[in-house]
Amino acid sequence: MKHLLKDPTLWRDGAYIAGEWLAETPHGRYTLRNPVDQMVLAELPRCRETEVRHAIDTAHEAFGPWRRLTAKRRGEVLRRWYELMVENREDIATLITLEEGKPLEEARGEVDYAASFVRWFGEEATRVRGDLIPGVKDTQRIVILREPIGVCAAITPWNFPAAMITRKAAPALAAGCTMVVKPASQTPLTALALAELALRAGVPAGVFSVITGNDTRDIAGELTANPLVRKLTFTGSTEVGRLLLAQAAQTVKKCSMELGGNAPFIVFDDADLDAAADGVMLAKFRNGGQSCIGANRVLVQSGVYDALAERIVERMARLKVGNGLEPGVQVGPLIDDAAVRKSQALVDDALAQGARLLSGGKPHALGGCFFEPTLLADVTHGMRVAREEIFGPVMPLVRFDTDDQAIAMANDSEFGLAAYLFSRDAARIWRNAARIESGMVGINCGLISNEVAPFGGVKQSGLGREGSHLGIDEFLEVKYLCWDGLESV
Ligand code: NAP
Repeated sequence: MKHLLKDPTLWRDGAYIAGEWLAETPHGRYTLRNPVDQMVLAELPRCRETEVRHAIDTAHEAFGPWRRLTAKRRGEVLRRWYELMVENREDIATLITLEEGKPLEEARGEVDYAASFVRWFGEEATRVRGDLIPGVKDTQRIVILREPIGVCAAITPWNFPAAMITRKAAPALAAGCTMVVKPASQTPLTALALAELALRAGVPAGVFSVITGNDTRDIAGELTANPLVRKLTFTGSTEVGRLLLAQAAQTVKKCSMELGGNAPFIVFDDADLDAAADGVMLAKFRNGGQSCIGANRVLVQSGVYDALAERIVERMARLKVGNGLEPGVQVGPLIDDAAVRKSQALVDDALAQGARLLSGGKPHALGGCFFEPTLLADVTHGMRVAREEIFGPVMPLVRFDTDDQAIAMANDSEFGLAAYLFSRDAARIWRNAARIESGMVGINCGLISNEVAPFGGVKQSGLGREGSHLGIDEFLEVKYLCWDGLESV
C-alpha cells in the first residue's frame, strides 16, 4: 500500500521516540489491518513501559531547551510543520483513508482541519501574556507569569487520526511543552507520518514522540503513573476517560478530557426544512456516523416530522457507500466488526420496541464492516438508540410537541458535548440555546468544528477546551510573583 503515496518515505512503521525510529522492541509486533477488507497494512512494534519511559525521559530532557526558545521561534517551527502538512495533504489523506476507512474527500478535509490547528497555535504562541496587578502595599507589585506545564501525554482515538493529535500537540508545543502521543492502535500510520513531518520541520528530538503498540493498558499505565508527566490530554470514550482520570489522580496531573457525546439535533416547526435536512446529513453521516459531535438523535416537532423524514429519505437514497479510496464514495466502512454489531443491536432494539424502518437497517451487501445508512422513525426517548452513543450510520427520528419537551429530552443524558438547533425564530433559538446543557451548539448548521472555536463538552463529555485562544491555556500554569521592596511612585 506504500505505493499509493507520492512520497513513500511518509509510510513509517516504527515508533518515533527521542527523534529516532524504533523498528524493534523485545515485545514483538502487532498487525494493522484495513477496515475495508481486513488486508494487512503494516506490522508495528509493540512498545511497553520501558519504551514509554524512555520517551518520557527524553521529553523531560528536551523540555528545558524547547521552552527556552522564543515563542516566535517555536511559532516558526510550527508554521513549517503546517506547511509540510499542506504540501503532503494527499499522502496524509490516503493514510487516513487506508487505516480508518473514511472517504478520501473527507480525509482531505481532516488534513486541512488538522493542519489549521498547527498554523493557529503557531500564531498563538506569541500571544501568551502575563499580567501585572497593583499590590496590597504601595511598594508591592503582583506579577503573573504563564509558563509551560512540562511533559504532556496525549492518548487519542482512531476516528480523526490526524486532527485529534494536532489539536493537542500544536498548543502544547506552542506553549513550550513537550509531548508523548499514544495514538489509537488502529490508526498509527497517520500519527507516524505527522511525526516524520515534525522532524522535517525542525521539531527537536524528544519534543514530540509517538508510541506504537496494542498493549494499551501498559502504555497508558506508564503515561498516567510517571511523575515526570505533568499533563494528560485524552480524547476517546467517557468510559476510558473515567479510568484515566482515576489513574492520573495518583500523581495529580492536570487533565483535559474530550469524551463521548449524544448530540440532539432539534428541528422546530418554523425551520427551513431543506437546510435542516442538509445539516443533519452532514452532522450524521460524516465519517459514517463515527464522530463525537455527530447528530445522535434527531428530535423533530410533530408538524414537520413527516416532511423532514421525506427529505432525509431522498437524500439518503443518493448516498454512495464503498471503499473510501474510490471516487464519489460518501460513506466508508465502520472501524471494526464490533461497531457493526453495535449498530445492528441498536436498530434491532428500536424495531422490537415499535420503531419504523424507513431505510437501511442491516449490514451492507458489500460485507465486512459496511453497514447500510439507516433511518428509523417513531423512535422514543427511552430506546437505546436515543440514549447511547451510536457511532454508526443510524439516524433515529424522535417526535416532540413543545419546546420544553425537546429541551427536557435533549438534557436528559449524562453527555453534553454538542447540540444542534434549527429554527428561523431568533428569540426561540436564543432561549433554547441558553437552556441546552452542552459545550457547543450549532444553529442552523450541521458542521461546527474549526480551529478558531473552543471545542469541548460539559457533564460527562469532558473537561477543558481545545482550539481557539483558550486551547493553549490547557498547557500553561499560572505562577505569581509577589514582588516587594519597590519604590512607592
Ligand atoms: P476509546 O476506546 O476510549 O479509545 C481512545 C484511546 O484510548 C485509544 O488510544 C485507546 O487505545 C485508548 N484506550 C482504550 N482503552 C484504554 C484503557 N483501558 N486504558 C487506557 N487507554 C485506553 O475510544 P475510541 O473508540 O477510540 O473513540 C471513540 C470515542 O471517542 C467515542 O466515545 C467518541 O465520542 C470519542 N471522541 C470524542 C471526541 C471529543 O472531542 N470529545 C473526539 C473524537 C472521539 P487503543 O486504540 O490501543 O485501544
